Amino acid sequence: MTEKIETDAVVIGAGPVGLFAVFELGLLDLSCHLIDILDRPGGQCAELYPEKPIYDIPGYPVINGQELVDKLMEQIKPFNPVFHLGQMVETLENRVDGGFVIGTDVGTVIHAKVVVIAAGGGSFQPKRPPVPGIEAYEGKSVFYSVRRMEEFRDQDLLIVGGGDSALDWTLNLQPLAKSLTLLHRRDAFRAAPDSVNKMRALVEAGNMHLRFGQVTSLKGADGKLSAAVVKDEKGVETEIACTRMLPFFGLTMKLGPVANWGLNLDENLIPVDTEKFESSHPGIFAIGDINSYPGKLKLILSGFHEAALMAQAAVHLAYPERKIVFQYTTSSSSLQKKLGVI
Ligand SMILES: Cc1cc2nc3c(=O)[nH]c(=O)nc-3n(C[C@H](O)[C@H](O)[C@H](O)COP(=O)(O)OP(=O)(O)OC[C@H]3O[C@@H](n4cnc5c(N)ncnc54)[C@H](O)[C@@H]3O)c2cc1C
Repeated sequence: MTEKIETDAVVIGAGPVGLFAVFELGLLDLSCHLIDILDRPGGQCAELYPEKPIYDIPGYPVINGQELVDKLMEQIKPFNPVFHLGQMVETLENRVDGGFVIGTDVGTVIHAKVVVIAAGGGSFQPKRPPVPGIEAYEGKSVFYSVRRMEEFRDQDLLIVGGGDSALDWTLNLQPLAKSLTLLHRRDAFRAAPDSVNKMRALVEAGNMHLRFGQVTSLKGADGKLSAAVVKDEKGVETEIACTRMLPFFGLTMKLGPVANWGLNLDENLIPVDTEKFESSHPGIFAIGDINSYPGKLKLILSGFHEAALMAQAAVHLAYPERKIVFQYTTSSSSLQKKLGVI
């Protein structure tokens, strides 16, 4: 039986805006669980531009995407948010006695008083390589992310791609796999040079194989992979024996399940008011890139502002009896205690 999780707020999406929402909710004593389909926090900043400089975050003349995420993680630490990473929120339902029940694709069920949708442009989903019939192997022999490393122990593993994910998992899974082949279109990698050097050292030591070309078809039966047919740059086809394949072809953003939660949508965005940033459904808020209102700017700083106002409204809904006094972190000793600075 799954453990019943109760919390004040569930934040759907651990991008910069979802992370800052934890801070604003925390100052008002609301506990938070965050859920993200990605295996790390940071949303677009961490996934799409970790090393790009951002110049319009107040107080930071320049900060790169990953640094901003690291700072946000440090800032929310005092509130002990619980992260459920590598999980997609699929269902969002009303609870008969008020509040909401949130369900993920791996079976996590969380009961919450309020829900904050900070889902950005939607869920990041892996791009499927153009290999005929690959669907039949997905979830059995072909995986687009590593949720459990044990899945790959003692397997003949084929990793496809030349970016950071492909190289990171090559280095992490090589010690577990029975054999490992990394396949990339050509001998030029987008991944961090240090990872590429480590991978080349493993090839030189005879601990893994490096091949160039593209997968054109798969061989196997009943979802069990036995080999991938690979065409090289000269058009010559050969087979690579493998029982597991991990293609890393990048991610696309799709609205995904948000569309099924019965909320009013406007061109795949959630219309909100600009006082509380609440959706058409009381108790469900939408902040950051996922919302729309007149004059909306898809900027991180706009999302931070929305998080602050949302939190003020959320605490009234979650705890109507509480008296909320507006306070500054600079001068309020009670806020400073919550932050652990005094
Ligand atoms: C290249 C680039 C450069 C940019 N430069 C700047 C800049 O200089 N300044 C600036 O202010 N902005 C910039 N932006 C925009 C900025 O990144 C976005 O405004 C910001 O990331 C929005 O934050 P968010 O938290 O709302 O959403 P996101 O960062 O998109 O995070 C949303 C998260 O929700 C998750 N999610 C969605 N649906 C589900 C679901 N059903 N279940 C679980 N998880 C889900 C996603 O996986 C994702 O991690 C840039 C964007 C790009 C692409």
